[in-house]
Amino acid sequence: MVRLPMALALRALNRFYTPEKPLTFSGKGAMLKLADLMVRSGSKRPLIVTDSFLLKSGMLDDLLDFLKKEGCEAAVYDGIIPNPTFAVVEEGVAAIRKGQCDSVFAVGGGSAIDAAKVMASASTSKKSLKKLAGILKVDQPLLPFYVVATTSGTGSEVTTAAVISDTKTHKKTFFVDPKYMPIAAAFDTDLLVSLPGPMTAGTGMDALTHAIEAFTTRARTPETDRDAATAIRLIMEFLPVAYSTPGDERAREMVALGSFLAGNAFTRAGLGYVHAISHQISAHYNTPHGLANAVLLPRVLRFNKEACATRFAELERMLQGDADQSSLLEQAQKFIDRVDDLAESVGIPVNLEDLKKQDFSNIAKDALAEARTSYAVPKVMRNGDVIKILQSVSTGRRQISFS
Ligand code: NAD
Repeated sequence: MVRLPMALALRALNRFYTPEKPLTFSGKGAMLKLADLMVRSGSKRPLIVTDSFLLKSGMLDDLLDFLKKEGCEAAVYDGIIPNPTFAVVEEGVAAIRKGQCDSVFAVGGGSAIDAAKVMASASTSKKSLKKLAGILKVDQPLLPFYVVATTSGTGSEVTTAAVISDTKTHKKTFFVDPKYMPIAAAFDTDLLVSLPGPMTAGTGMDALTHAIEAFTTRARTPETDRDAATAIRLIMEFLPVAYSTPGDERAREMVALGSFLAGNAFTRAGLGYVHAISHQISAHYNTPHGLANAVLLPRVLRFNKEACATRFAELERMLQGDADQSSLLEQAQKFIDRVDDLAESVGIPVNLEDLKKQDFSNIAKDALAEARTSYAVPKVMRNGDVIKILQSVSTGRRQISFS
């Protein structure tokens, strides 16, 4: 069988299949504007998909009151857990069937959004959940699907992917199809301001990783470059503000928009080794996705320094805002240092304590397989490179030399 190079395959998928960005609402009260749109579009029995913490915190009270006043019979599924599993999706599908729901409205981070995407698809499909996993496997239109993104990192509100964890194999399963693009999304500052510091930091660094990986893949396009570069500007400027001043609504909104643009860039251009490795780490140790990415990012940037010198230097000049007379490699190093400084300023640790040496070879094998089959990386890693990165993440030594 002839295999299409990954960069070409991603470009083809993007050109012929990837839909436009969803309609968005942002700022104060954005969640209710989105709910209004859903009701005006004819929804009478939505399933609200969220987690028990967000529901108990009262963040959804206004939404539920609004839907009641509008005469909707909303059902609520609040069983979302971080890194959601197949069992979670099955429970949600059962809730859709029990409530005879006609739409799905997710409120939460990437975990709620991803699980809701697959629920909205599995509930209309003739296929089993396992058969829906993979690329272009959706056989029926999804239930109308709306998203309130309450973290600012995964970009799931604008991607054509969902990630569900398989607890038996310790692997994350990908569901990728243009039909997973939501109809509309909201970034409500009333909800975003309550995101705790460590989550703000981890998810913000996740968004930065999306933008940098999309900016350096071989499948990038002028559109993905523009969105990725804007996302990098917004996150570099506003993530430290959102972290140090949690109630700053402008900073929260700007980081959310940065995450959205980064999501749009990577759903078209793809990702790289930070994600390939972090997915395996999260599947093994349930490490929060953003934190795993944040700790890996500086290491993978160092691995890519020479291969991506021109791209990193371009970003550095954009962020400096004036001419830089130093060499390309020096500018690239300044960009990497800038990412290190940002991570430090928002309290990202230099290591992940849970990593176990006996898992390294499986993690490396699965990470290389994910990258080979999914991403148009700028430079190919070998097994030994991944092991070096895992050792450095485990010990906290950031400086690694790659031969
Ligand atoms: P998350 O959705 O797992 O949420 C983490 C925690 O944050 C939860 O306990 C939640 O209750 C809490 N939380 C969320 N919003 C809050 C708020 N405003 N205030 C207080 N607490 C809040 O975290 P995430 O990083 O957004 O999502 C991670 C998941 O997304 C992973 O499963 C990952 O694989 C997936 N992901 C998907 C895509 C995609 O394109 N579909 C891309 C990247 C990651």
